[in-house]
Amino acid sequence: MKLFDTHTHYDDDKFDALSRYELIETLLRDEVDYILGAAVDVDTSRFTIETAARFPNYYAAVGIHPQSCGDYPDVGAALSEIEALAKSPKVKAIGETGFDFHWQNNPAPEVQKLFFEGQMEIARRLSLPVIVHDREAHGMTMDVVMKYPDVIGVFHSYSGSIEMAKELTRRGWYISFSGVITYKNATRLAEVVPTIPKDRILVETDCPYLAPEPKRGKTNHSGLVKYTAAKAALLRSEGYEEFVEMTTENAKRLFGIE
Ligand SMILES: [Zn+2]
Repeated sequence: MKLFDTHTHYDDDKFDALSRYELIETLLRDEVDYILGAAVDVDTSRFTIETAARFPNYYAAVGIHPQSCGDYPDVGAALSEIEALAKSPKVKAIGETGFDFHWQNNPAPEVQKLFFEGQMEIARRLSLPVIVHDREAHGMTMDVVMKYPDVIGVFHSYSGSIEMAKELTRRGWYISFSGVITYKNATRLAEVVPTIPKDRILVETDCPYLAPEPKRGKTNHSGLVKYTAAKAALLRSEGYEEFVEMTTENAKRLFGIE
């Protein structure tokens, strides 16, 4: 069994338009068992669906990222479009959605909230998990999670505390770690990794971003998720093979893949 890269952006310009599908094909043959494509807006939602149609083990998420909300003045129309796309057969999650307060010129918190809650409602109606992006917004993100106790999903590239992870996993949510855990300065996050229950931990690249050590700064891809998995297994004092099997099974359970 090989790893499941649970968060990717192969639509990104960092991947050459002519060779991105060859890359995905190679990665699914040699490096990982499954890839999930995350979307950030309507166009990338269409990209994940089209890509999923090409590769049996590539699955799609559809959604509007907190930093993309400002592109859609008609909230209702944008969300209806996402809901329609979410009914495609290989769509296994809504997202990414959530809050991002890192950049000054991000959409206003109230706007981000409208889109986040709207997507939580879509997830509830369609019984799909949600991929949550939480950047410097732990409090408000948790408030929305608490408001929808019947919706679960994954906090991607997790950056919260041990306590927050405990609350999330108690509620049935999953925690996904990216290459950030391999960085020298990620000492606080390194303490979180071993506290996640065996049946609630996932790994991801968030490629092309966040390439793990020893490839930090390079264009990330699913073939590098093994470095993140190796670091997580080490931090948890688990065998690498055991960790791979556990996280792949977890991702398949969360996304409803047989
Ligand atoms: Zn992402």
